[in-house]
Amino acid sequence: MSAASPAVDREAILAWYGERRRDLPWRRTRDPYRILVSEVMLQQTQVARVVPYYETFLARFPDEAALASAPAADVLRLWSGLGYNRRALALQAAARIVARDGWPRDVAGLRLLPGIGPYTAAAVASFAFGLEVAAVDTNVRRVIARLDRRERTPAQLEQRAAALLAPGRAADWNQAMMELGATVCGPRAPLCDACPAATCRSRGRPAVAASGRARGVGRTSVRIRFEDSDRFVRGRIVAALAAGEAVPDGFEPVRLERALAGLERDGLVVREGASVRLP
Ligand code: SF4
Repeated sequence: MSAASPAVDREAILAWYGERRRDLPWRRTRDPYRILVSEVMLQQTQVARVVPYYETFLARFPDEAALASAPAADVLRLWSGLGYNRRALALQAAARIVARDGWPRDVAGLRLLPGIGPYTAAAVASFAFGLEVAAVDTNVRRVIARLDRRERTPAQLEQRAAALLAPGRAADWNQAMMELGATVCGPRAPLCDACPAATCRSRGRPAVAASGRARGVGRTSVRIRFEDSDRFVRGRIVAALAAGEAVPDGFEPVRLERALAGLERDGLVVREGASVRLP
């Protein structure tokens, strides 16, 4: 497939990344633990929100051993406000395995750690261990779809991402593609005039295939306000407990019970009679 795909000027994209990249704290390290913490925090959360949490978290838990031995309640207290609190417990479970067994050195091994999917495993393998693997997130999928202006199945897109890797510079290339998607080739209005991808087939044309998904597999979604979601109630409960307060009132009893039951099931709270606390 790659032989028939359009040429991409890797050197120009890498040079642009070298000049324009944002100075993010996780780009200054090759420590797998620090990279994993950043990647887990960045799942579902914007960069600007993650930076202060990342720094506070690492000040308290500087390595996998510190995180592994901490009470889960302390971990959740530091995570509270970042959202998707289950990520914190999965990260701690991964830290416990790594503290005991050492770091897996390949993507397959990394994927066995709790909370680590294909993208996160590839990111850690590439950024920490220098493996020549493509880390394909939403941004990268969108950029590749536009560069080639071609519909692909997810498997074909993974193949194309692997074929595009800059030999010997996989980590920089992965970062460059993500940076391009995050800062220039955004979902709605790509800034083609500021883009180094001179050979892009979508340059100055309406964007296509933003998700990189195959035709016909998209889903119809119904938006509900965040304040009306169970996730909102769950977040409020964990934030209150993390601050040493009681479970907040003001929610419908059925909704509150549903949220508490879900939190208990996920190991995020412990209920003893009428009392509720962090684990
Ligand atoms: S030229 Fe435009 S569409 Fe193509 S990668 Fe750059 S920003 Fe995206």
